[in-house]
Amino acid sequence: MSLFSKNTALSHLLKRHCETLCQEEHLSPEIITHALEKGSMVLLGNPAHRDVLPLLVGQPAKVKVNANIGTSPLRNDKEGELRKLAAALEAGADTIMDLSIAGDLRNIRQSMLDACRRPIGTVPLYAVAQRYIDAGKDPAEFSPEELFDEIESQAEQGVDFMTVHCGITERGAAWASEQNGRVMGIVSRGGSILARWMRANKKENPLLTEYERILKCARRHNVTLSLGDGLRPGAGADAGDAAQWDEVIMLGRLARTGLESGVQCMVEGPGHVRMNEVEAQIRGIKTACHNAPLYVLGPLVVDACPGYDHIAGAIGGALAVRAGVDFLCYLTPAEHLTLPDLDDVRAGVIASRIAAHAGEVAMGKASALDRENTMSAARKALDWKAMQCAAIDPKTLCAKRAEHAGEEVCAMCGEFCAVKMLR
Ligand code: SF4
Repeated sequence: MSLFSKNTALSHLLKRHCETLCQEEHLSPEIITHALEKGSMVLLGNPAHRDVLPLLVGQPAKVKVNANIGTSPLRNDKEGELRKLAAALEAGADTIMDLSIAGDLRNIRQSMLDACRRPIGTVPLYAVAQRYIDAGKDPAEFSPEELFDEIESQAEQGVDFMTVHCGITERGAAWASEQNGRVMGIVSRGGSILARWMRANKKENPLLTEYERILKCARRHNVTLSLGDGLRPGAGADAGDAAQWDEVIMLGRLARTGLESGVQCMVEGPGHVRMNEVEAQIRGIKTACHNAPLYVLGPLVVDACPGYDHIAGAIGGALAVRAGVDFLCYLTPAEHLTLPDLDDVRAGVIASRIAAHAGEVAMGKASALDRENTMSAARKALDWKAMQCAAIDPKTLCAKRAEHAGEEVCAMCGEFCAVKMLR
């Protein structure tokens, strides 16, 4: 049986949106169908998300960018998060992840689903842990049943993709400890909660042992599983260690099992990886995970630039895209420091879009090269309108040029304009 006969929600979604998707991606229906069937591409879109605009992620579609937003116990402002959602979309984010961990999470999620036609992702484990932490209890006390109920409830609500840290095992968590040589230990929120749960309950990860239950729910709603990297390196020095690869290998097996049972899967990737290791990491993860779409956080190529982590992440992101990454999760200037504000969100999305574009240019993708050629021709012609159309961030272009908008040249050289000089 094909993927489409197992996952009828996906089949209907593709039929309904096929024409638009082909136009957006400059791909034929046959190429899209083939890539979805072999699992190198996923179509994000839960039919329960009202008016969702489904999105293709994976080769050979264009690289996509995600923006993380959400409340925290120190800054719990739903309206503020909704403003960030709008800012992220306006800056060109393709998807939004609601990582809220404070307030009425169901209500916040619903408001985001209502406000966003682009796919929305979540981490259901956060909602379960929040109940315990808010009650002053240990999150390791949650029962697997509560977690599966939460996954089901969010799928019914319309969440399009979910991070589930199914690949973290007791062994992997032990290997990722400082005692075993890691500098940073476990830095993923979901990974650390599950590691704590496994240690307290002396049991294996329920998301792994009862993976079948997650698949059943995901298939019914066409929720794409984003197989979380709970053991991703949180420092450049930890990249590529045994704990990371132990989990990657497990994620690859889970992605294959998911696809075979009609569930679309992506794999999440690092994290902090030094420049000289990015390409090898990405190619290795892609191979181990059967070319499932790879969704990375960064990777940050250096650890020492708090306040500028969107730049460290964009450098890694560009290298990663060139090596085959499909989906970039943004980093903002607030990373490692605080919850991002509106300006941080905008800067983060634009930085990731530049990374995606740089990687695609290096890969020779036609749409990216077209943009480059259009910009060069516009610069040569001093055609500021055309430059605006080709720019990744036209808003900033206009703002910077505002003072001299009526002049043919710009204020950099004025009458010394080299372009004009040689006409
Ligand atoms: S003034 Fe200088 S910077 Fe501006 S368009 Fe002309 S050559 Fe380029």
